[in-house]
Formats: sequence, structure tokens, C-alpha cells
Amino acid sequence: MSFDREASCRRCRVYCDWVIDPVGCLGCSRLYAYDAKDGRRYAGCVERVHAAEVDLGVLEQCAEEERGFGGIRAVRVPLPICSAVVDSAYPRRLPEIGCVNPEFYEPPGGGTFVMTTREQPSRDA
Ligand code: SF4
Ligand code: SF4
Repeated sequence: MSFDREASCRRCRVYCDWVIDPVGCLGCSRLYAYDAKDGRRYAGCVERVHAAEVDLGVLEQCAEEERGFGGIRAVRVPLPICSAVVDSAYPRRLPEIGCVNPEFYEPPGGGTFVMTTREQPSRDA
């Protein structure tokens, strides 16, 4: 069984989004780059996991300094290769029953759920 997944959840008042750190995109085959008229080289995602185009020089500098660039909101569910985490806003708004959409936190490409039932042995046997 497979589930349609979303990049954002608004099923309670917490508001959760998958976000990508584009430093993790360096080396990904789905990263494109082009030279802009302002003399900078910009990079983006062919898969449109996120919709931003980021200064490639800044990304490379972040990687060199071993620090993140910062999260960019995903516009579609990240791929397993992406450096993706869930960012939750207003965590104090979590309802008493807890998250009502725990599948949202399943890692990208984390597989599907398998549901099984176990039959109770018959008392007549
Ligand atoms: S697929 Fe993921 S890692 Fe690759 S460029 Fe797009 S957002 Fe980055
Ligand atoms: S806490 Fe759960 S139900 Fe609420 S927005 Fe986040 S994923 Fe959705």
C-alpha cells in the first residue's frame, strides 16, 4: 500500500514543512547551475524539490566551512538523496492527542507501511 505524501502538513495548528539544506545538494546529479548576468553562478534543483536558486559560491563556501546554508521549504516531497528535515512551527500548539499525521515524519524513501492482522484462536477448537 502506498500513501500520497505532501511536503507540508496543516492538519493541526503546529504547521509542519519539509525543508532542504541546499549544501547537501552539492554533488547531486539533479543540481543544475547557470551563470547569471550579475556575474554569479546560481544553482537549483531539476526535480523542483525546492524552488529556490541559490548562489553556488555561497553554497560551496558553506560546505568548505562545514556549516549549513539554512532550510529552504520543499515544494514537493524530498527524494531519499536530499538533505531534508521536518521543520515544525509553533510546537506548543500540539493538540493533547499528539500529532494526528505521524506518517508525515516518515523519512523520504523510507518505504511503506505493512499492516497485518492476527487471528485469535477459536475457543471452540
Ligand atoms: S534532488 Fe534533492 S539533493 Fe538533489 S538537487 Fe534536488 S533538492 Fe538537492
Ligand atoms: S504536528 Fe502532525 S498533524 Fe500537526 S501539522 Fe505537524 S505533522 Fe501535521
